[in-house]
Amino acid sequence: SQVYLNGAFMAPQDAHISPLDRGFLFADGIYEVIPAYNGVLFRFEEHLVRLERSLAETAIANPHSRDQWRQLCEQLIQRNGGGNLSIYLQVTRGATEKRDHAFPNPPVPPTVFMMTGNIAVPAADSPDTATGSKAITLDDIRWARCDIKSVSLLPNSLLRQQAVAAGASEAILLRDGFVTEGSASNVFIVAESTVITPPKSHAILGGITRDLVVELCHRHHIPVEEREITESQLRQADEIWVTSSTREIVPIIQLNNSAVGIGTPGPVWKTVARHYVSFKRRLCGL
Ligand code: PMP
Repeated sequence: SQVYLNGAFMAPQDAHISPLDRGFLFADGIYEVIPAYNGVLFRFEEHLVRLERSLAETAIANPHSRDQWRQLCEQLIQRNGGGNLSIYLQVTRGATEKRDHAFPNPPVPPTVFMMTGNIAVPAADSPDTATGSKAITLDDIRWARCDIKSVSLLPNSLLRQQAVAAGASEAILLRDGFVTEGSASNVFIVAESTVITPPKSHAILGGITRDLVVELCHRHHIPVEEREITESQLRQADEIWVTSSTREIVPIIQLNNSAVGIGTPGPVWKTVARHYVSFKRRLCGL
């Protein structure tokens, strides 16, 4: 396989970064994960807009134009054989000479790293045989700017590990009695035949998959609302889903060891999963 680092493609074992990189010292960087199906980048514009926003909010210089980013991503996919892959893309504030919290002055070039990963076959691809996943609720211990896709993922990592240790695949996070999101996903519930997801704010990452699910609900006249979800609404929901670019829409069938709804992937999930998959197939020529 090949990765990209600061202007060149290379084998992963040849990619070296300074320990004085601010990504290493301060987790001073941002990232994106962009899926490609059949070698075709999925929702690339949307991911680029979010990348630009993360860079602007952290005042890290954007080293590339949109065309350059697209070319780099397409080359990386080609060099890794195309097909279904995800691109992990990270930009840090760069490597400095001394450890100082304040930004380097004059600025140094940002560090750009990209690699590909495999995408598992998502549950949404086969709605009729999907078994669903388990989740637990945990206190959202993260900072107040979760809208920035920052590489500072220690809280997310600790939370996800707690979920895994409890035999679940995701932690659904609660702040002041309200659902924010998952440790690496956005959260949806179905209540009274309405699809509900928390509104975008500084408390959650504006997920590309989230936005597409909301868009598909509107397009297919499935009632959908962006509003706060309380802990008790979560517990009483008929369906719970978590969404992310690499896992798409995952039905949660158990929350804290209690069945969600009737304990199997729900009918609204199946409908939305079908819409999602046919949208993806059309767009990527699958
Ligand atoms: N929230 C968090 C905290 C995440 O890490 C992710 C995915 N990495 C998401 C939401 C989902 O975002 P997307 O659909 O763009 O992958």
